[in-house]
Amino acid sequence: MTQSYNAIVIGAGVMGASIAFHLAERGLKPAILERKTVASGATGYSSGLVRMHYDLAVEAELTFVSYKNYYSNWKERVGGECGFINTGFLKIVKREYEEKLRGNVANQQRIGINTSIIPAAEVNQLFPDLVTDQFDFAAYEPDSGYADATLTTNSFIESAKRNGATLIQNCEVTAVHTSGGRVTGVSTTQGEFDAPIVINAAGRWAKQVASLAGIEVPLETWTHDVAFLHRPPSLGRFPAVIDDIANCYFRPEGSALILAASEDDSLRNETPEADEQTPSPSFLENLIDNMVRRIPKIEESGLQSIHVGRDGLTPDQRAIYSASGLDGFYLACGLSGTGFKTSPAAGASMVELILDGKPKTVDITPFRFERFAEGKLLEGEYGYGNLWR
Ligand SMILES: Cc1cc2nc3c(=O)[nH]c(=O)nc-3n(C[C@H](O)[C@H](O)[C@H](O)COP(=O)(O)OP(=O)(O)OC[C@H]3O[C@@H](n4cnc5c(N)ncnc54)[C@H](O)[C@@H]3O)c2cc1C
Repeated sequence: MTQSYNAIVIGAGVMGASIAFHLAERGLKPAILERKTVASGATGYSSGLVRMHYDLAVEAELTFVSYKNYYSNWKERVGGECGFINTGFLKIVKREYEEKLRGNVANQQRIGINTSIIPAAEVNQLFPDLVTDQFDFAAYEPDSGYADATLTTNSFIESAKRNGATLIQNCEVTAVHTSGGRVTGVSTTQGEFDAPIVINAAGRWAKQVASLAGIEVPLETWTHDVAFLHRPPSLGRFPAVIDDIANCYFRPEGSALILAASEDDSLRNETPEADEQTPSPSFLENLIDNMVRRIPKIEESGLQSIHVGRDGLTPDQRAIYSASGLDGFYLACGLSGTGFKTSPAAGASMVELILDGKPKTVDITPFRFERFAEGKLLEGEYGYGNLWR
């Protein structure tokens, strides 16, 4: 028997969960169809950084609104927990990019973000275990930190369910139905579903899902290894850091561990189904070589575990939040290794685009799908010349 819903969300990662939450808040009763289990894709492997430093102002705005209206106020706004921990955040860039750092921070301050340029000596005062001799200034966000991506996703879904949404796991979408240029529903491994609105939030599988509707989305798979290191007992307070000089990022993970990763060994273009157990052979050695330049006490650390995560990557490494060209079929995918922190405001804005024809929370129009066909890729005003902003 065909089941009917007023909207279908394909994928129960953080993006699908946020969209379902906001649809249900607006009185719709969506079905969330998930081929495996909640947060089994990129979301379950996310490093969870919630920082606001971006070179593209609209991404900074998405994080700021997500922080202000959601992460810092989760229980009241969504219900349940998101696990946000305020550690502060430092962005460290090479001396040659100092002017760009200043430009980005000025843009972020205009948005309302609590961020400033601080001298290396102040970094050293705040966090004495960080080596500061290769830079003169860094950007510092005292409000930022990290959250738990799986908890965030579960909270969104539980709240959506309280408002009438239905979650169906182990339910893979295998076909998208259309009639007269409109989407009408989907076939799945658990039967047929009708709906006038279908949202493709299938993460690194979104290309395959879009192709079921005859739509070509330019997505490749990005593979990213992440390590959990034991925190040396002598290591003092340190914030979340993205370090473009030492080419790594890291943050505390609770009180006993450090989460750390580097782009040195990230892979492109594996299949979405590639093995999730085996990190790149040189990952750990390269990571420690990089990190020790910033935190020498990492030498006293040891490895707790490594995991391998994958996300969908677009040609400009920015998300697609957009109509698709097929009426009723929407794209919320290609989050490009950076879409956890922005997912609350992006989900709210997507739902406004779908139901009102125009986003209001944040103007997500720059993330429109047509930009790829038009060759108008997104670029930050003050880019740092690397792929991973
Ligand atoms: C290792 C790693 C570290 C990261 N660190 C950060 C960070 O610090 N901060 C940050 O902001 N972002 C970070 N990101 C990025 C962020 O986690 C992702 O952009 C985000 O989680 C993607 O969410 P999603 O819902 O789009 O995709 P996913 O979480 O991949 O969810 C997609 C879901 O769709 C389901 N699906 C696929 N095909 C079908 C189908 N045919 N039918 C039904 N269901 C289907 C999948 O099973 C999956 O559960 C990181 C990503 C990785 C991999």
